[in-house]
Amino acid sequence: MLNPLFKKIIQLIDSFPEIGPRQAWRLFFWFLKQDKKLQKQFVEYFQVLVENLNFCNLCNFPTLNEEICLICSDIRRNKSQLCIVARETDLITIEELKRYKGLYFVIGGLLLPFENKNIVKERLEKLKERLVKDKNVKEIILALPFTKEAEPLRKEIIRILSQFKIEIKTPKKGIPTGGEIEFIDPDTLKEALGL
Ligand SMILES: [Zn+2]
Repeated sequence: MLNPLFKKIIQLIDSFPEIGPRQAWRLFFWFLKQDKKLQKQFVEYFQVLVENLNFCNLCNFPTLNEEICLICSDIRRNKSQLCIVARETDLITIEELKRYKGLYFVIGGLLLPFENKNIVKERLEKLKERLVKDKNVKEIILALPFTKEAEPLRKEIIRILSQFKIEIKTPKKGIPTGGEIEFIDPDTLKEALGL
């Protein structure tokens, strides 16, 4: 019934996290009904993205061609504070609070079945290397989601951090168990992160 190319594209969309097969079909058929200009823009932007994508050498946040992202290269940021987040969206949520002035380290996921564990493992190794080299870091804010799924990652990070004499702040106050950083209301999050 379906053209093989349609099937391949739908399978690709279906492989996105939290997108099920039904949603993949819907998104695909939605896309087909958009005007040519939008469709072409989509392809062009993705092409540029794929060809120029890089990840910051220091924090792992995605960049376009740059070795170091805008946050890490900003001389106004406090280099003694490092906030560890599981996902890129958590970094964005914390940045939107406009209170935190330190630096970040993005793990890139949790230790979940659908996420690329190699990336997480590589980044944990990188975190260790960074803390060995970077003597500016005096305080770490561990801003991982308060979910059961995040527990293996939390334990692993705490194990790594215990090898260094760095103060670790773990948000407690007011964050409900099961809370994803991006869904916590801004005031609660500010208080929990001590911002
Ligand atoms: Zn960076």
